[in-house]
Amino acid sequence: MKTISKVIDGKRVIIKKPELLAPAGSLEKLKTAIIYGADAVFVGGKEFSLRSQASNFTLEDISEAVEFANGYGAHIHVTCNIILHNDNLEGIREYLKALDDIGVTAIIVADPYIMSIARDMKLKLEVHVSTQLSTLNLEAIQFYKKLGVDRVVLGRETTYEDLKEIMAHTPLDIEYFIHGAMCIHYSGRCMLSNYMSRRDANRGGCSQSCRWFYDLYDNGMKLNQEDDVPFSMSSKDMALVNHIHECIELGVDSFKIEGRMKSLHYIATVVSTYRKLIDEYCEDPDHFVVEKDFEKEIEKAANRSLSHGFFFENPTKQEQLFQLRDEHPTQEFIIRVLGYNEETGLAHIEQRNHFKVGETVEIFSPHQKNMIFKIEKIYNKDMEEVDVANHPMEELYIPLDKMVFEHDMGRKVKTNES
Ligand code: SF4
Repeated sequence: MKTISKVIDGKRVIIKKPELLAPAGSLEKLKTAIIYGADAVFVGGKEFSLRSQASNFTLEDISEAVEFANGYGAHIHVTCNIILHNDNLEGIREYLKALDDIGVTAIIVADPYIMSIARDMKLKLEVHVSTQLSTLNLEAIQFYKKLGVDRVVLGRETTYEDLKEIMAHTPLDIEYFIHGAMCIHYSGRCMLSNYMSRRDANRGGCSQSCRWFYDLYDNGMKLNQEDDVPFSMSSKDMALVNHIHECIELGVDSFKIEGRMKSLHYIATVVSTYRKLIDEYCEDPDHFVVEKDFEKEIEKAANRSLSHGFFFENPTKQEQLFQLRDEHPTQEFIIRVLGYNEETGLAHIEQRNHFKVGETVEIFSPHQKNMIFKIEKIYNKDMEEVDVANHPMEELYIPLDKMVFEHDMGRKVKTNES
C-alpha cells in the first residue's frame, strides 16, 4: 500500500498528490487547461481515436502540445481508444512510434491488440486502459497488469466503496473520474445514437439521443404522459467537488475531468477550482474544510444540474432528469484578457460574448482571487469610446483599477438590471 501522507514539523501533509487530468478539444483549450493548473491533458489524435474528428489533434498539433506542456512540467495523454475492425490495423505501429518520438506521456487504449504491440515495440510512453472497457474490479486490473499496461482508467460507475477496495490492493496506477457528463447507459456500451442518428457513440459521434424527447407506446397505444411532456432520459452531470479529499486519502493516482467538447470557460473554471481544492487539501489535510465557494465556482460553468454520479451507490431517480432536458445556459463568458498596462490602468481584452457599459464582470484568474468590476468604459483599438462590445473576438480596452493578467477571463455577473 502506498504512503499517502507524512508528518513534517508536527504537521501532516499529503505526499502522494494526485495528478489533475483535464480534457482539451483544441490547442487553445489545452494551453488554457495547463495555465489554469492541469498536471496533464488528454487529447484525441486524428488517427485511432474514439471521439469526434472535429476536435482531434494532428501529429503536428500533438507535437506543439507536448512542447507547451514541457514548459510547465505537464504531460500529454493521447487517446488511441478506437475499437479496431480488421481494416483499421494499417499504420498503427507507425502512429504509436510517432507519438513516442514526439514525447507523449501516455496513450489511452481500449483494444488489446494496441496494448500488446505498444509493449512489443518497447515504447517509452505509458499505456493506459481506457474507461471504454468499464473496469470496475480488482481482478480485471490484475488481468491488465499481466498485459503490461501502466494504468487503468476506471469506469464512471465505480462507487467509493469499490474504489477503496481497489486502491488498497491495486498493482497499477488508477485514474478516477471526478467531473463531467454521465451516460444514461454504462459508458461506452450504448447503441442508441447509432440507431437514432447513425452516429456511432463508439466512434466518437454520440448525438446524445438519450436526451431527446420520445413518445411512449404500449402495444401500439400511446401512453398518457404526465402533463403531456414527452419522455426523455438525461443524467445529471457528475461533480465530486465535496469528496475529492476522500479520494486523495485513498491514494488515487489521477483525477480525470471529462469534456473535450466543452468550452474554454468551462475548462478554465473547472480545472482552476479542482487545482485550488487539491492544493489546499494536500497542504494541510487535517484542517481542511470543504467550502461552499468551491461548489459555487463549479456551478458557474455547469450547464446541467450536478450530482455525485455513482460515488455513493447506483444513481437513483434523483440523479436522472426524466422528462426534462435541464440545459440551462452557463454563466456568460465575455472577456479574455490579453494584457494589462499598469501606467494607464487599461486591460487589453478580447471580446468573447456581447457586453456593454454599465454591466458587471467577474474576472477569474489562475494567479489571484476572483474580482468583480463594473464596466465604466469600453475603447476600441483606435481608442475611440464605444458603448457596446458586440463583435466576436474584437480587441478592446477597458479601465480596471486592479491588475489583471494575460489569460485571465471575465464572465458577466447577473444583476437585477441585467
Ligand atoms: S446516447 Fe446517451 S447514453 Fe448513449 S452514449 Fe450517448 S450520451 Fe451515452
